[in-house]
Amino acid sequence: MSAIMMDGKALAASVKRDVKEKVLTLTRQPTLAVILVGDNPASSIYVRYKASDCAECGIRCLDYRLRADTSETEVLALVGELNRRDDVDGILIQLPLPPQIREQVVQEAINPGKDVDAFHPENVGRIMQFAPRFLPCTPAGVMALLRRYGIDPAGRECVVVGRSNIVGKPMALLLLQAHGTVTVCHTRTPDLASVCRRADILISAAGLPGLIRSDMVRRGAAVVDVAINRGVDGKLCGDVDAAVADKASYLTPVPGGVGPMTRAMLLVNTLRAAQMQQLLTR
Ligand code: NAD
Repeated sequence: MSAIMMDGKALAASVKRDVKEKVLTLTRQPTLAVILVGDNPASSIYVRYKASDCAECGIRCLDYRLRADTSETEVLALVGELNRRDDVDGILIQLPLPPQIREQVVQEAINPGKDVDAFHPENVGRIMQFAPRFLPCTPAGVMALLRRYGIDPAGRECVVVGRSNIVGKPMALLLLQAHGTVTVCHTRTPDLASVCRRADILISAAGLPGLIRSDMVRRGAAVVDVAINRGVDGKLCGDVDAAVADKASYLTPVPGGVGPMTRAMLLVNTLRAAQMQQLLTR
């Protein structure tokens, strides 16, 4: 048996086409403001991708590059200004931030209606209540992939490896909302292998190459590899060992699986923010 590879690149392209069409129906061009503090090379690449994704879909991207020694007060002042601007629909702060700036303080300063990353506590709370305003991009991308391949979490055993605020926790909530029976594993889980073997749907977001071996996967399970690691050969890889392809029914490649979907979901959220903003100002 060889797993069907879930093509995130193709699905992301179709999501982007849809966003582009919907953007044309709006009375004003949607605008996403992206704030990058410092010059972390990976963050700079991500910001560049975001700008080009926006351009592809007809979304205006305002790119704010701040010095690495920018103070928290200065960042908060910029966020405040962007919150007040009617022509700005979405605000995103590229993580990680330099140590003098508290992530949580800045995230909480963003107007929840413009919080397209869905990191603001109000938006996190809404996700918890199954009444989301915005869906968190990576977990939403995973759910879209599962839907596309007809994998329904309802009544299935779902195991999520990782409990971060960005991936693991919101992933677990979306699976729960979709009626999965969800287990979340983390570094203190004593027997990861036996928990993973229970999974009909296994999502790994640990950031450790080779963590998920074939003997940890139930035959026929759907396996989603969220992680993006740099392997010893310098190439990108996920958490899931290549041999899992012989055991799973579905598997996401890295790259080309969840990554493109995360990017596409940011555009969906920006469109949604613009639609909500235009309803308010009509
Ligand atoms: P993180 O470091 O904040 O969290 C990792 C989680 O994995 C932690 O909760 C930890 O408890 C758990 N973990 C680590 N080692 C483990 C082990 N041996 N056994 C069980 N659990 C273990 O990372 P994150 O921000 O959640 O990202 C996770 C991975 O996903 C990274 O590789 C990151 O690059 C990737 N990522 C990919 C996308 C995407 O779009 N594909 C988006 C965000 C993050």
